Order: sequence, then C-alpha cells, then structure tokens
Amino acid sequence: MPEIEIKDELYSGKAKTIYNTNDPDVMVSHFRDSLTAFDGKKKSEAEKKGYYNAQISKKLFEMLEDAGIKTHYLGMLDDERMLVQRVEIILIEVIPRNIAAGSITRKYPFEEGFRFKEPVVVMDYKSDEHGDPMLNDDIAVALGVATREEIAKVKELALKINELLTTYLEKQGLLLVDFKLEFGRRNGEIVLADEISCDTCRFWDAGTGESLDKDVFRFDKGDVTGTYEKVARRIVPEIFE
Ligand code: UDP
Repeated sequence: MPEIEIKDELYSGKAKTIYNTNDPDVMVSHFRDSLTAFDGKKKSEAEKKGYYNAQISKKLFEMLEDAGIKTHYLGMLDDERMLVQRVEIILIEVIPRNIAAGSITRKYPFEEGFRFKEPVVVMDYKSDEHGDPMLNDDIAVALGVATREEIAKVKELALKINELLTTYLEKQGLLLVDFKLEFGRRNGEIVLADEISCDTCRFWDAGTGESLDKDVFRFDKGDVTGTYEKVARRIVPEIFE
C-alpha cells in the first residue's frame, strides 16, 4: 500500500472520527478517549481508552480475518488510528446475545445473567433520531435498509463471529455476554465494519462476574481506564511487553 495521508474529516461519532485519505478506497478510523452512554446524555473522557479499544479491535479483527471472516480492517496507521476499507454501512446494529444483560432484561422477563440455550440475535435500527428501535426482518426490508438476503447473511455472519469470539475470549477468562456489530457493503459483498471493543461488547470476568466493559462507565462501577487496561492485558498482552 502506498504511503497513506490523512485528508478531511468525513464523520465524527461518539467515540471515533473517520477521515478520508489520499486513497479513495481507504479511510482512517481514529479511536478517541471520549465516552458516551444513554443516547449521549452521559459524557466523559478516559485516558488511553481510545488506545486500548483500537488495540483490542485490531487484534480481534485480525483473529476473525484469519478465521475467514471478511472485515474492513486493513492495518494500523499508528496506535490509535486504524486503516479501514471504505464500505457502505448497513443501518442495522446486529447484537448477538449469549447471556441476558442490558436492554433485553428491561424489555423482556429475562433475569440478568440468564444463559440463553442458543445465542439470541437482535437487530436494532441504527438511527439516533429514532432511539435505535428494535427491528425485525419485515421492518428492515420496509425501511429499505437491507434486502432479505442481506439480513439473512448478516445474521449468519453474526452467529459465526459470536462463536469465534466466544471461544477466543474464553481462553482469556472472559465471558462474552453480548456485543454489537455493524456490517458494510463492498463490491457486492458484506464485510464486518466498525469496531469490536470494550465500548461495544459486554465482557464479564469468567471467575468473578466483574464487568470489564463500558458498563463500568454507564453505571459508575469503577475506573474506566483501569478496566479497559485489564481487558487489553488479556487480549493484547504483547502491547505491555
Ligand atoms: N451496544 C453498542 N452500541 C449501541 C447499543 C448497544 O455498542 O448503540 C452494545 C452494548 O455495549 C452491549 C450490546 O450492544 O454490549 C447490547 O446493548 P443493549 O441493547 O443491552 O443496550 P444497553 O443496555 O447498553 O442500553
């Protein structure tokens, strides 16, 4: 790949800023230290959080690529900035759930910690304006956000990714409770996009059940930087050598 130069900002989200580059097919995703929760109502910053999330995401994208999952990940520009393929984001948040936590325990009579016999895949409409409401296939098709074939494909990919991540994280003593995925279209294919990090996953310590993710920020359970560092030490121990 020729030398990549950052050009103008394309989009700044709650935790990442996306830049165009001198290569029209390549974008830079900068993982920032900012944190938001509850639809942006709660905001803060945590030192090195962007760095830990970028490194965790990098490692998990690489693991998935090695297992044959196509992702937008191309490499790292530096410690906090990821090179990614330009894709057309599908406006669906795909959420595989292995253990009940968060919104599913508020909307349905599942006790927190209930282990689903088989993973539950939930889809939310990616729309801040509408508060990310839950979708089913018919609503997604009616909204025009994806075709039935694409929906079937993203669910199949989400289950495969869930299996790969669960097995991988178990070895590091982490339970993958639930997580959010975003997919994009590229040259007629569907590829995994966005990030996989402490901001987008619920990780529980397999021994103690301690939250090791953004719930620490959401519910003031402790030190965010220290928590994200704990996860980074397990998933990317090489950055501490
Ligand atoms: N999630 C996310 N972005 C969102 C919504 C959810 O990354 O906009 C992740 C969240 O961190 C959790 C999973 O998706 O790992 C399920 O979130 P849930 O629906 O339980 O929402 P919450 O309880 O956080 O409101």
